Amino acid sequence: MLKLKDTLTGKLQDFQPLEGNHVRMYACGPTVYDFAHIGNFRTYVYEDILRRWLKFKGYQLTHVMNITDVDDKTIRDSKAKELAQLRAYTERYARCFFEDCMALSIERPDKVVNATDHIPDMVHLIQKLVESGHAYKKDDSYYFKISTYPKYGQLAKLDFDGMKIGASVDIDEYEKEDVRDFALWKAPKDEEPFWDTPIGKGRPGWHIECSAMSMHYLGASFDIHCGAVDNIFPHHENEIAQSECATGKPFVRLWLHGEHLMVNGEKMSKSKGNFFTLRDLLGKGDSPRAIRYTLSSVPYRKPLNFTSESVQQAQSAIGRLEEFLLRFETDTFPEGVNERVEEACRTARDKFVAGLDDDLNTAGALGAIFEFVRQGNTAIGEGSLCQGNVASISTLFDDFQAIFPVLKDPTRQILDSQIEALIAERNQARRERNFKKADEIRDQLLAQGIILEDTRAGLRWKRKE
Ligand code: AMP
Ligand code: ZN
Repeated sequence: MLKLKDTLTGKLQDFQPLEGNHVRMYACGPTVYDFAHIGNFRTYVYEDILRRWLKFKGYQLTHVMNITDVDDKTIRDSKAKELAQLRAYTERYARCFFEDCMALSIERPDKVVNATDHIPDMVHLIQKLVESGHAYKKDDSYYFKISTYPKYGQLAKLDFDGMKIGASVDIDEYEKEDVRDFALWKAPKDEEPFWDTPIGKGRPGWHIECSAMSMHYLGASFDIHCGAVDNIFPHHENEIAQSECATGKPFVRLWLHGEHLMVNGEKMSKSKGNFFTLRDLLGKGDSPRAIRYTLSSVPYRKPLNFTSESVQQAQSAIGRLEEFLLRFETDTFPEGVNERVEEACRTARDKFVAGLDDDLNTAGALGAIFEFVRQGNTAIGEGSLCQGNVASISTLFDDFQAIFPVLKDPTRQILDSQIEALIAERNQARRERNFKKADEIRDQLLAQGIILEDTRAGLRWKRKE
């Protein structure tokens, strides 16, 4: 049985969907003001493993992810004065995000939804909170009144009663009644883009975006809400407060939070400047499959220190698997069944399943596969692996690839003709001096493992790996 750890209760819980076989899951998506870094992708990779594991176990899944395309950072970096300018700016980074996801074999969630397409949902939620006395208006902005929700602080395990006035909880500079209160709706500042709505002009706060979109698609109560640990406070704490006060129902059954990707003991983050984008790493020759493996290798609730050695180790681990598979696919085996090999295969599969069922213990699941590869190599070396073992070994590796898609998959490769067509399009863009488009095409090719090289003989391309 699948067990998942819930941040709210701190307990490992038997997983049971609220409604039959249908799992409703929400994941906080990227803020599209810049390229995502691989710390962000650690979170999306663990969510993808969860997604794949739930489907593998036969659940029907509705996985919703938002795109945060309006917030302080998107407004700051786009320098947009109009909503259309903001959208054009954020769409570019959303596109890049999905290209990177594709390179890392992260499946697209069932619904990907933009915050700016759901302003009426947010306005409606704020109206409900005002009507029920949980929110108030001040200087044309709206705030959630934390004193009306006694359970506030439950997720982050913070004692809010003891908090002193003057301590800064939220970074926004708007005036509020109580320092702990957080903004639901921000009145427009000079020259900022805004919406004209029944609650006035302005734009939503980040937290209300996720409450409104998750409940729009998944209902007032749903199964799983994921993110990384930095989302616990204030983002998810605020989501719980707003949502439960608006509906009177429990918001989320299970809260999952992944630990951070670290660099030299510090969280990888834009603000610290210690980050790599996927494009940085692909540009220096790392393979997307090795990066995916690195990000999957440590269970999501444990910190993972990122080093270039870890990517090299991942590359050689993939190499060991592929070497075994090559032998397995090209050698000829005697007839019959080797029961020891069948037993080893069954044990590996049981451990693989038990590992992932144990709060997605990816290290345990990978360990089971490598143990089998050791035994399988010995059997091939001794000539004792038989034709009757081929089916179970193939199934084991199909199952492995379904959750850890790091083995070469020829069907996913971009075709030579598609590459040539994109290069031709890029050349045309350069001739038209549309360097932005040309750069985007180069980035898109890079995300798919294609490196462009300017040589004396003209432009050449090569596949990484
Ligand atoms: P953002 O685009 O900043 O909203 O972040 C997207 C997701 O990446 C959020 O769920 C963050 O919590 C997560 N995240 C940010 N930094 C890291 C990191 N160093 N390791 C893992 N996840 C991270
Ligand atoms: Zn969110």
